[in-house]
Amino acid sequence: MIVVMKAHADDADRAAILARLEEHNLRGHLSEGDERSVIGVVGARIPDGLSEQLQSMSGVQSVVRISRSYKLAAREFQPHATIVRVGNVEIGGPNPVVMAGPCSVENEAQLLTTARAVADAGAHILRGGAFKPRTSPYAFRGLGEAGLKILAAARDETGLPIITEALNTRDIELVARYTDIIQIGARNMQNFALLEEAGATGLPIMVKRGPAATIEEWLLAAEYVLATGNRNVILCERGIRTFETATRNTLDLNAVALARRRTHLPIIADPSHGTGKWYLVEPLALAGIAAGAHGVMIEVHHDPDRAMSDGPQSLSHASFARLMDKIRVLNGLYEHDLEAA
Ligand code: PEP
Ligand code: MN
Repeated sequence: MIVVMKAHADDADRAAILARLEEHNLRGHLSEGDERSVIGVVGARIPDGLSEQLQSMSGVQSVVRISRSYKLAAREFQPHATIVRVGNVEIGGPNPVVMAGPCSVENEAQLLTTARAVADAGAHILRGGAFKPRTSPYAFRGLGEAGLKILAAARDETGLPIITEALNTRDIELVARYTDIIQIGARNMQNFALLEEAGATGLPIMVKRGPAATIEEWLLAAEYVLATGNRNVILCERGIRTFETATRNTLDLNAVALARRRTHLPIIADPSHGTGKWYLVEPLALAGIAAGAHGVMIEVHHDPDRAMSDGPQSLSHASFARLMDKIRVLNGLYEHDLEAA
């Protein structure tokens, strides 16, 4: 349920609504738009008659039920786009944001070389995994805190904010000490304790879509973070598992275009994990932006053949620079008009 306030409603009106919700053990989340403010009401059970009570309170314009299972993530709750600000970078605005870097932080020289290359090519955010979710327990699982320190050093040198994955709740505090954005990996999309602990740090959180998650389940995962009071949530489509085996995953661009209508949160497309093949990354990155993604996440390695993880889907420095040129051309072509249906 949302409570839409009148344009002239004041702080006292809003406080009275929040207090009334509290009496019923419900939580109100305030969203201030340019023209109106809205209070989103969430809780396990909304008592009968509450909607009518709220309707008659001072400053209230209307009370509307949100029929979707996710509430705070829904466009109906917040019609205007959420913009997540990280340093000078705006994720969710009109210009596509590029997050780029190696799959894993392998050592200082490797990360700094690629960090400089992606910064020179115009990337906005540096990515790199220090805690790696690997299908086999015997594969390289990341450098841990040493990797986080290397990422922080690369941020100091290049000025690029960093994004890195937290694999489990006991690493959240450590990862939060170093990173600008916490990545929740696809395999952890429904690790609800992790979503809540990550949300509680107050840092921007990027929720990758699980390889077998529906769009609704993905938005409900984002809802877990939003329900902690953290508004800085980013979604990432990274490919789902289908019957097709010719590519590692199938990058679901339907989900990108549909999520733009269903939610106000920024959406990033990840064609590296979405395809598993470096030569498919450029076309799918451009297609992702054309489908409405607010940006892309791209794996880049100075020597993909020797990468410790995800080499086959990593762009070389040169192919990444070519992709950046094409994104700049595409960005000038058209404006998206994919507001709520
Ligand atoms: C990654 O970004 O390197 C990664 C492990 O992604 P995902 O969780 O989407 O597999
Ligand atoms: Mn990877």
